[in-house]
Amino acid sequence: PQALVWFRQDLRLTDNQALSAACDWAREGETGAAEGSTKVRALYIATPMQWRAHDVAPIQLDFIERHLNLLAQGLARLGIALELVHLDSFGQVDDFLAAYVREHGIGRIFAGAEPEFNERMRDRRLMAAGLPLQLSDEHCLLPPGTVLNLGGEMYKVFTPFAKCWRQLASRGAIAPLPIPSPMGPALAAPEPLHLRCDKLSSHLWPAGEDEAGLLLHAFVEQRLQDYGAERDFPALDGTSRLSPYLAIGVLSPRQCVAALQGRFPAALVEDTPAKVWLNELIWREFYRHLLVAFPRLSRGGNFNPRADKLPWRNDRADFAAWCEGRTGYPLVDAAMRQLRQTGWMHNRLRMLVASFLTKHLLIDWRWGEQYFRRHLIDGDLAANNGGWQWSAGIGCDAQPYFRIFNPMTQSEKFDPDASFIRKYLPELAPWSLKQLHHPEQHGSDEMLAPLSDRTATCYPRPIIAHAVARARALDVLGMLKK
Ligand code: FAD
Repeated sequence: PQALVWFRQDLRLTDNQALSAACDWAREGETGAAEGSTKVRALYIATPMQWRAHDVAPIQLDFIERHLNLLAQGLARLGIALELVHLDSFGQVDDFLAAYVREHGIGRIFAGAEPEFNERMRDRRLMAAGLPLQLSDEHCLLPPGTVLNLGGEMYKVFTPFAKCWRQLASRGAIAPLPIPSPMGPALAAPEPLHLRCDKLSSHLWPAGEDEAGLLLHAFVEQRLQDYGAERDFPALDGTSRLSPYLAIGVLSPRQCVAALQGRFPAALVEDTPAKVWLNELIWREFYRHLLVAFPRLSRGGNFNPRADKLPWRNDRADFAAWCEGRTGYPLVDAAMRQLRQTGWMHNRLRMLVASFLTKHLLIDWRWGEQYFRRHLIDGDLAANNGGWQWSAGIGCDAQPYFRIFNPMTQSEKFDPDASFIRKYLPELAPWSLKQLHHPEQHGSDEMLAPLSDRTATCYPRPIIAHAVARARALDVLGMLKK
């Protein structure tokens, strides 16, 4: 029988439990069998219709395609061929795999588990149908369901979850698996693989697990130390920018934590300069564990059921202004341009624009969540959903509804010299700092167009005055009060 590695959100050779397990299984199977009779095959199933339904961003699909090609080359060096198959949706996977297993005499299918609801249901169905699917939980360092409170339940607050996570993670050595040794002679260079769907160039992001490893190590060596001080300033290169690689599994969380421990060996048990970054990696795990514990999150449900009755305004013109970066708040608008131009947005700005959409404009967080998914190179259901619900004040361990970011204060505090604003809104470069941070107060009539004038070439007036928006949000969101 042959082993099949089914690649999904784990497009790497290093620290890939499914790949390593498949190679080990095939090697064990070879003992006593005719030489070369037990082989490893690899498969990637593209599901363009499902991706469209899930709003996967064209830039992320391009990034996936680039990595599939590199993965195919890496696997060929190990003597393993990667096959790309196109199916429209998950619904067709069952029949396809059953036939594939029969046709190729597959003894076992190895794959990394996925936390999303549809994906988990698909895997459950396949196993119930008798397919020999073996899942390894590697999208998190600690698998969902293993970090629980004394009552055996999932934590609903981050701090005790993080404490428990650190305790559990510090119990064993964190050692990423090496690339398995070749299963046979190297294969010829594979033909280029193409995903049949809309794509948008992701060339701003270097591709490959070697590149990702270099980025990780450069960050840990040079910038991790200052992460706590610099991570909130979007004009600085203060964060790791590894999210695109983590989202599609070019890097594993274990590789990140191992690198961090290499620099600060006591990071899991003591306060070290690595603590703040480690916490972000734990937030990533927290949201993934939540997604598994609360399936309604995968289906757009509010974490806080009180939010089910919120009367969102859902004004389409306001939403369009937010999407297009025409709110009249320069930092909000610069952030939305960063998203469109690069496929990525700084975390401080994700929090700001999400708060602005849900609190200033009272637009349903799901609209923003979907817009992000359609444009982010690091689109990730768990982190995106968690981030949006947190920002809207209705999620797990959410920011309270009455904490409403003041875009002017955020601008002064986190982009003090307005260099980020000037980079993404170059047309405002001649403005003074006061005008950039407080356009309504210090801008003149010639500088600011009324928002209603869509043909105006100059920058719009603020879509709503901060004080008015704040009072309105407090009034409406007040129904979330316990
Ligand atoms: P770093 O600061 O270097 O952090 C390291 C890694 O930790 C990140 O790469 C990421 O994998 C993880 N991480 C960091 N912060 C968070 C967080 N708050 N929640 C969960 N994981 C985190 N992150 C995504 O990966 N995909 C998303 O779709 C996504 N959508 C978001 C939407 C909103 C409204 C908000 C507020 C946050 C969202 N985040 C999302 C989390 C966070 O903004 C990004 O992970 C981060 O900006 C990525 O930059 P970085 O790699 O430099 O992060």
